[in-house]
Amino acid sequence: MTATQDAPHTSPQPAAPAAPLDVEALVDRIDAGHRLTADEAVAVLGAPDADTFRIVAAASRLREKHFGRTVKVNYLVSLKTGLCPENCTYCSQRLGTAAEILKYTWLKPEEAVKQASMGIAGGASRVCMVASGTGPTDRDVDRVTGMIDQLKEQHPDVEVCACLGELKDGQAEKLKAAGVDAYNHNINTAESHYESICTSHTYQSRVDTVQRAGAAGLSSCSGLIAGMGESDEQLVEAVFALRDLDSDSIPVNFLMPFDGTPLEGHWELTPLQCLRILAMVRLACPDKELRIAGGREMHLRSLQSVGLQVANSIFLGDYLTSEGQDAEADLQMIADAGYTVLGAEKREQAADSGAEPGGCCGGSTAACGDAADEAGVDASAEGRASATKPELRRRGAGTAEPANA
Ligand code: SF4
Repeated sequence: MTATQDAPHTSPQPAAPAAPLDVEALVDRIDAGHRLTADEAVAVLGAPDADTFRIVAAASRLREKHFGRTVKVNYLVSLKTGLCPENCTYCSQRLGTAAEILKYTWLKPEEAVKQASMGIAGGASRVCMVASGTGPTDRDVDRVTGMIDQLKEQHPDVEVCACLGELKDGQAEKLKAAGVDAYNHNINTAESHYESICTSHTYQSRVDTVQRAGAAGLSSCSGLIAGMGESDEQLVEAVFALRDLDSDSIPVNFLMPFDGTPLEGHWELTPLQCLRILAMVRLACPDKELRIAGGREMHLRSLQSVGLQVANSIFLGDYLTSEGQDAEADLQMIADAGYTVLGAEKREQAADSGAEPGGCCGGSTAACGDAADEAGVDASAEGRASATKPELRRRGAGTAEPANA
């Protein structure tokens, strides 16, 4: 007799439909101190498309409570691009990449400061100084601290975030002493998914660097990349790990599937899914800086400004190896959505009094695209908004072309 013959003749009961997510009540509870649970986070990610704007609207209450209607504008300077010995599958700078990106070794200090100054003039209150590679040598750290000295001399109020890879003993302390405010090292994905995206270093080594930076008194910046084949549960695992690491700022990237990388053509996100991911991060980490990072234009597309209802931070202009929409369009988007650039008022007052050399519109929307226009760079965001492939960066740091700032 088989087990099937022995089985009682009860017809399987249909699973009770999951109760719809009462996101308004959830936000009330989070506001009162509740920590988002994994089940709640997965429910947000799995909510129907039709419920997404309601989730975003509810989560926006937390964003406004902690950050008002400001958007922090960050600017990337790629100090060294390509030529990395690591094998991160998503990265156009990885070992043996066939991606036809710009490749150059360290910028000269004056060039790095010039590039950073352009972003500051465009409204950035934080400059992210990034170098490809496993991690810096002590000489590299000295090189970067020299650049930061010069940058802070010209722009004493700007926040500087360094992103140089894995840190060794003493390096975080050296950066802190040189005036670096923050250190970025993304965990990128869940520990349970890490080996699928990289085998040349470990998840733990990334966590170690985030902790090392925090222990040295640097503000920690660590985030993730969504859309690399992870499950919703793994996305939640990554976000909860960032919550446990107490990351002060959380950049959320959406995979840009560069040609010539193992994830070329990998395309699994929709704009509404991206909004649910951002909303979930806001619910999990209500008072942390949430930055919409790489892939914003190609994945959120026409919903980029809706993302600002939960995220309070973006990068201005271009990314490390690909072009973003034009800086002028970024600033226009912020203004059109009724937000102001963090620090713009202070910079305008300083510019009026002549106290801040190099400032132009300080984040207002009208004038910042002039340099791009004059150089013949296409100032229209059309086309890029619906692109399905990253457009390789051919301007700014490491080129003779004006930066997109
Ligand atoms: S993500 Fe960083 S460590 Fe990994 S390949 Fe790219 S530059 Fe190298």
